[in-house]
Amino acid sequence: MTEPLLFELSSPGRVGCRLPELDVPETALPEKSLRRELPLPELSEREVAQHFTRLSQLNFSVDTGFYPLGSCTMKYNPKLHEEVARFPGFAHIHPWQSESTVQGALQLMYELQEYLAEITGLPGVSLQPVAGAHGELTGMLIVRAYHLEHGDEGRTVVLVPDSAHGTNPATASMCGYEVVTVSSDPRGNTDVGELGRLMDETVAGLMLTNPNTLGLFEEHILQVTEIVHEAGGLIYCDGANMNALLGIASTGELGTDVLHLNLHKTFSTPHGGGGPGAGATAVTEELTPFLPTPVAARREERESTAALTEYYLDYERPHSIGPVSGFYGNFGVMVKAYAYLRSLGERGLREVSENAVLNANYLLEQLKGYYHLPYDRPCLHECVFSGKAQANLGVHTVDIAKRLIDLGFHPPTVYFPLIVDEALMIEPTETESLETLDAFVTAMRQIAREAESEPELVRGAPRTTPVTRLDEATAARKPNLKWQG
Ligand SMILES: *Cc1c(COP(=O)(O)O)cnc(C)c1O
Repeated sequence: MTEPLLFELSSPGRVGCRLPELDVPETALPEKSLRRELPLPELSEREVAQHFTRLSQLNFSVDTGFYPLGSCTMKYNPKLHEEVARFPGFAHIHPWQSESTVQGALQLMYELQEYLAEITGLPGVSLQPVAGAHGELTGMLIVRAYHLEHGDEGRTVVLVPDSAHGTNPATASMCGYEVVTVSSDPRGNTDVGELGRLMDETVAGLMLTNPNTLGLFEEHILQVTEIVHEAGGLIYCDGANMNALLGIASTGELGTDVLHLNLHKTFSTPHGGGGPGAGATAVTEELTPFLPTPVAARREERESTAALTEYYLDYERPHSIGPVSGFYGNFGVMVKAYAYLRSLGERGLREVSENAVLNANYLLEQLKGYYHLPYDRPCLHECVFSGKAQANLGVHTVDIAKRLIDLGFHPPTVYFPLIVDEALMIEPTETESLETLDAFVTAMRQIAREAESEPELVRGAPRTTPVTRLDEATAARKPNLKWQG
């Protein structure tokens, strides 16, 4: 660590603040309340500002560099959205205000629900879940409520493809289901034959990701949904990869019953570090009664007495699974997603996906000769390579990822999906220029060459960062979390 700690910068007697003049009689504090040995750093305001600003600049962020973290859709977040979210009418309202005083906010929620319904082809939308995984939980609770409503208590199994994100089986399990894995076929699709054999009246549904985590479109999607529906199951679609399909394919038309969107991924609201997200959940007409309460709604007829509450929160939903979070979800995230949708419009949204897919295929073609491509077919918004050729030379995917840091890039997602050995999952998004993609290609090719000629160099990366290669196992088992002078 080359950065000094605040404690190490301390200089006895130096202060960064001035207390106001005493305007009451001076009195001694009780002796027992005095703390004489309080080892706080003593610094000027200038030094503190300098220190923390320097630390903040050590962060890698979407605003400072290319961030191709597969499945996370780390696209640029236009600053206009922040400005809109800070409008006093949005930022200063309180969840307990009466509906008549927050009509604009309710209108925004209502219209956002409508836009998301149109994009997904699924008419019922809840904005309440605060993360993708939370949207999954909401969706699977709806699946469960639907089966129980139909007296179908024997459905205890949920099918999950082996390429799925870990939150899928975790969610099914949290809802009390037994998780059964479906294999992928040699082209990276759900194995339709195996699905047919596994599908029976004990299965509540299939949790499908489309395009899947290999970045590949499910080629037999209609057959898959038909097999599941014929046996009485429902299709849950993990919509985290929606950045590939905006304005191109409607998941509802492909047979999806329930889907979550990650507003913080696809609809460009900042995320990472556990920051606020939104896992809006969309469902078919048939499942709409089960949505969490409340749902933003609009009165059909504007009666004179109701003129001030054209938009309202609908709590009268007897079949609802109930609220899934406090109040209405992360409203600020909704404002940013709404601003994104309104500024792009229908055509702009389609271009988002077209360019995301184009960028990913460009990287796929440029890197194909350098890294093993386990599923050699055009991808959608991301591509998945295997570092197994490099692993044979003693350079593993983790080394490639660390070396990219030295070369100025955030690493891709690594070792996921689990079905690809030494996986490198690259998602460039639509917001990167050709120059940036080319610079990344140059870096990845350089690393492939280094793996052959200078494996030690790659294995020892990163070298240029304040913290170099960590012993991750020891860090996890014996974390050193305390400053020791
Ligand atoms: C990100 C992601 C999730 C989970 O979303 P969170 O918002 O992180 O909870 C689920 N599935 C896939 C495929 C994802 O990429």
